[in-house]
Amino acid sequence: MERLPLFLDVQAQRCVVIGGGEVALRKATLLVRAGARLHVVAPELCDEMASLCEESDALLCRTEFHECCLQGATLAIAATDSLEVNTAVSLAARARGIPVNVVDQPELCTFIVPAIVDRSPIVVAISSGGASPILARSIKGLIDSLLPARVDRLAALLRELRDSIKAKIPRFEQRTRFWEKILEGDIPELVYSGKEQQARERIEEEARRPPRAKGEVYLVGAGPGDPELLTLKALRLMHKADVVLYDRLVSEAILLKLRPDADKVFVGKARADHAVPQEGINEMLVRLAREGKRVLRLKGGDPFIFGRGGEEIETLAAAGISFQVVPGITAASGCATYAGIPLTHRDYSQSVRFLTGHIREGGVPLNWELLVREQQTLAFYMGLSGLEVIARQLLEHSMDSSMPVAVIEQGTTREQKVCVASLEDIVTRVAAEGIQPPTLIIVGRVVALRDKLNWFG
Ligand code: SAH
Repeated sequence: MERLPLFLDVQAQRCVVIGGGEVALRKATLLVRAGARLHVVAPELCDEMASLCEESDALLCRTEFHECCLQGATLAIAATDSLEVNTAVSLAARARGIPVNVVDQPELCTFIVPAIVDRSPIVVAISSGGASPILARSIKGLIDSLLPARVDRLAALLRELRDSIKAKIPRFEQRTRFWEKILEGDIPELVYSGKEQQARERIEEEARRPPRAKGEVYLVGAGPGDPELLTLKALRLMHKADVVLYDRLVSEAILLKLRPDADKVFVGKARADHAVPQEGINEMLVRLAREGKRVLRLKGGDPFIFGRGGEEIETLAAAGISFQVVPGITAASGCATYAGIPLTHRDYSQSVRFLTGHIREGGVPLNWELLVREQQTLAFYMGLSGLEVIARQLLEHSMDSSMPVAVIEQGTTREQKVCVASLEDIVTRVAAEGIQPPTLIIVGRVVALRDKLNWFG
């Protein structure tokens, strides 16, 4: 983040605008809307600026800019056509420690004026850090269309009731739950449809019987890496959770989407390096939920596909803790798609098998004979260190040595790498390309379609 976003109180504070044209007018209007005491410095004013100054009882200096105009100002905005004047304003303001903005010249600014969606008291500010004001404006349009039309009324009502509810429900956690429950229910809809009084009464009635903090666990699949592959439900629960237990496969980009104040606990697990053993995770889930927390157990891919999700909820069910499970896009599906490989295809494959390639003592417990079939795709999870055994076994069980194999590293992310070779060459090729886990291995005729269908990267 290049700049710190803040909302500044300028009520009755003197804010200086240098310039009298249309651009200056836009900034001056904004300052007046925020309650500032407007001070305009310009030898000439456009008509609207003259009217604005009159209506808002602004201070007006019909002169060229001079440093003394900034004396005691809270902030300054320069919007003149002259680089010389703009630079002089910037230097003078900085010398006095006054925040300064020069329109369209980020290098002369100490703050920038964001694009805003104003539904006061809700205000959303958007900045592209000067990179592209047009992009910021299009994001503003997007956000504007997402906000309910009367969200301002809802915010005003909540503000009105805030203190009385605080007195009725003094405990912070309980009060947070209370407001969340109000906002998740049908009360906002009452306000949006103009029934404010009814909404007010309902909130007051609910406050007479506030909810008890009841813990629960959300076992959520975070998908293979690309945050846009999260489900809407996953995202909603990610915003709700108080504590998050996540493992190594959950990408950084996905963690950024969590509620910023949620406690985040890393619980492993790289192969053979379990930061917290499975029993420890199960116990932690139970303990946190019993403390009344909403616990998010965030897992890569789908929690029920090689995710030990079943074991985790067995413990929860036995302890009588309520839970929800949210499926995610599993690695086979995500990696195959982002590598341009359809897992099934009318001409080349009528079935797909999800397999573990995790080598145990004494070899992988797989029925190799069943795996060596035409018209079938094999997707191996956790298979990189066992790739040599997998390839050897398939060859020994008479799979065509030219069968195409894809090894996909960090599929669906910007770091995705795809290594394709024939079954007999794949081990050498993977070693030569330095492929690292996590990887998904796909074996089958469908892999050859990548030549035509690759679309990513
Ligand atoms: N529950 C997960 C799988 C967990 S097992 C799911 O449904 O996807 C861990 C294995 O998943 C890794 O060893 C790797 O084989 C695979 N995997 C998960 N994410 C991956 C990714 N982004 N790219 C490649 N393989 C991935």
